Amino acid sequence: MNIIFREKPLKLLWLEALLRRLREQDPEAGYFMEQFRRLDAGFAGEQRVDKEWDEIVCPNTFFVLHNLLLANTANHFHQLDTLFICKHFILVVEIKNINGKLDFDGTTYQCTRTKPDGTVEGFPNAITQIQRHIRFIKIISKNYSLPIEGAVIFSNPSAIIVNHPNTVPIFHVSGLQSHIQNLLKKYSKPILTDEQLTRFVQLIRAQHQPQKLLTRIDSSRFRHGVLCPKCNYKNQMFYYRGIWKCSVCRHNSIEIFAEALQDYQLLVNRTITNSQLRTFFRIESSDAANRLLRKFHFPSIGTTKNRVYHLPDDLTKYMKQFF
Ligand SMILES: [Zn+2]
Repeated sequence: MNIIFREKPLKLLWLEALLRRLREQDPEAGYFMEQFRRLDAGFAGEQRVDKEWDEIVCPNTFFVLHNLLLANTANHFHQLDTLFICKHFILVVEIKNINGKLDFDGTTYQCTRTKPDGTVEGFPNAITQIQRHIRFIKIISKNYSLPIEGAVIFSNPSAIIVNHPNTVPIFHVSGLQSHIQNLLKKYSKPILTDEQLTRFVQLIRAQHQPQKLLTRIDSSRFRHGVLCPKCNYKNQMFYYRGIWKCSVCRHNSIEIFAEALQDYQLLVNRTITNSQLRTFFRIESSDAANRLLRKFHFPSIGTTKNRVYHLPDDLTKYMKQFF
């Protein structure tokens, strides 16, 4: 079994950082909150399904790749929630974490949800999404001739699937185990050797595009500095002799800097200089800022005076080793 773990979507990290810092009365606060709720629920649903993969019983090696972002020849993206690959077949999975009554109309291709209060709304059709992904996977896997299957999985137990065409299986997460077992029975003969399987997975992973943030908002709209978690991120903490101290509740911490610097990385820039650090985090002394930056051994370019530090991915985890 090989499971490539799911990372939190970058957009979700960005929204978390933004909502911690967004100034009160920002005209788009409600819009960002709604976006956050939607993405956070989606991520929670994906994690619920991920637990099921841990329990899959499969006699052979298999790979489960999460959150793949692949570009097709027209440079359009395919965002795949999960791709299950074994020597017998490929399963493309689309995960939906929504509740209410769901209706897929096979003629109009419309997908609607009826909420418990009776309101009806349209949703992107997961079946057409998965069919598009399958066509793409067929192209990139053509040298391996594995059969390709698709499935739409509902992670929310309160979703009721009313109507759906029989083109792509749709089921609740609890049905995942038996679905895989049925596919293993259907495709009982292995098509690839272990080496071919590994090579194919490497090929797919090599095509994965790292996530990019496409949204930026003006930095005057959010609070700068290291913010105090005990004060609900409303008050600033000040740097004194290597420790951050809250000006209001007196809470102090050294590690809080990692979270604040990650906010900077998400909201402002992936690189930082001594003077940018002093401005954003209100540190007066250039020497203190220098010591702070050097402590974490960030990769950097330039001479001492104009040195630019690159903030690595997964910043809080990276910085942990230096505290
Ligand atoms: Zn405080």
